[in-house]
Amino acid sequence: MPQDVKDITIIGAGPTGLFGAFYAGMRGASCRLIDNLDQVGGQLTALYPEKYIFDVAGFPKILAKELVKGMAEQALQWKAPVHLGQKVIGLQRASENGKPLFTVMTEGDEYPSRSVLIAGGIGAFTPRKLPLKDVDRWYGRGLHDRILDPSVFAGKRVLLVGGGDSAFDWAVNLQGVAHRILMIHRRDGFRAHAATVKQVQELSAAGKMELRTFWELKEIHGDDRIEGVTIVNNKTKEHERVPVDCVVPQLGFISALGAIAEWGLEIEQGEIKVSQTMATNIPGIFAAGDIITYPGKLKLIATGASEAAIAVNHAVHFINPAAKIEPGHSSNMAIFGQSED
Ligand SMILES: Cc1cc2nc3c(=O)[nH]c(=O)nc-3n(C[C@H](O)[C@H](O)[C@H](O)COP(=O)(O)OP(=O)(O)OC[C@H]3O[C@@H](n4cnc5c(N)ncnc54)[C@H](O)[C@@H]3O)c2cc1C
Repeated sequence: MPQDVKDITIIGAGPTGLFGAFYAGMRGASCRLIDNLDQVGGQLTALYPEKYIFDVAGFPKILAKELVKGMAEQALQWKAPVHLGQKVIGLQRASENGKPLFTVMTEGDEYPSRSVLIAGGIGAFTPRKLPLKDVDRWYGRGLHDRILDPSVFAGKRVLLVGGGDSAFDWAVNLQGVAHRILMIHRRDGFRAHAATVKQVQELSAAGKMELRTFWELKEIHGDDRIEGVTIVNNKTKEHERVPVDCVVPQLGFISALGAIAEWGLEIEQGEIKVSQTMATNIPGIFAAGDIITYPGKLKLIATGASEAAIAVNHAVHFINPAAKIEPGHSSNMAIFGQSED
């Protein structure tokens, strides 16, 4: 079945894409969302569903997965189709009645659209793997580079590898869940939030976990499942075999714009340049969220939502110049059952 032409095709169903879908519906524009992950929510779902977020307007404290639940409910109230598990790999440009017509292509389908909103975040991302030979054989056998459900580590001896926010956050969040936590990092400088580093150092001093610097993972041991590791001190060259059940590398992730980088968009250091209206250099293609850059850009959920609102309102005006850019106030809108003041 050929897909119908939508006003806006949104690439990426992270928080930015979801809020874009909400705004499209509020403006009466048809839209669809496409994401290569198998769930909506972007980084919040894939990387930190169980972490609390404190800097989203209206929520003093909210679990990432709960925020996604609310955003999805808000975004999908007008039943915009969501195409999950589909990576966007191509874009065709044509025109219809003097207006651009885009076809967004995935491996399985083609989606025609009058405009495109790229909300691809950090791109189609994958966790950075441990630089060990045969590392793939340990996935599903105790090696986890993403933590979706902390209860998997209940009562387990866990080796955390890394010195960034995720490693430090999990050292704190697995307290009381894991039986034992050893965290190693190859140097004594950390890329994590200072308050969390201090917290982990205090936990380590209190014997509630162990933090070792200048140690690296050399080898994983086991038959069917991970039973232990060999770690090496990169200063003294001392080797030590440590029994562990799980290895959790938190080495950041490799993100790639992938095919999007080939579309003729202006790109600066892997990010799409946009104007104040979130327009890219290609008329009809807008971008918002972590994937964009402009002077003063902040990579936050709050800013992504604001950029999505700006992008969608300008896309609506781009498709139909008679439509106002200014959306009006939702509190006055008939679409929500309200009457105009
Ligand atoms: C550990 C951690 C903690 C954080 N804590 C906070 C916090 O407390 N407060 C805060 O404001 N921010 C926080 N952030 C940052 C926040 O998560 C990001 O700013 C936000 O997720 C950006 O949203 P986005 O929708 O632009 O991108 P993303 O969340 O990255 O979503 C983009 C989506 O696009 C999809 N995609 C990309 N390329 C393609 C393609 N070619 N085809 C199909 N789909 C594609 C991806 O699969 C992804 O689902 C945190 C980030 C991390 C990693």
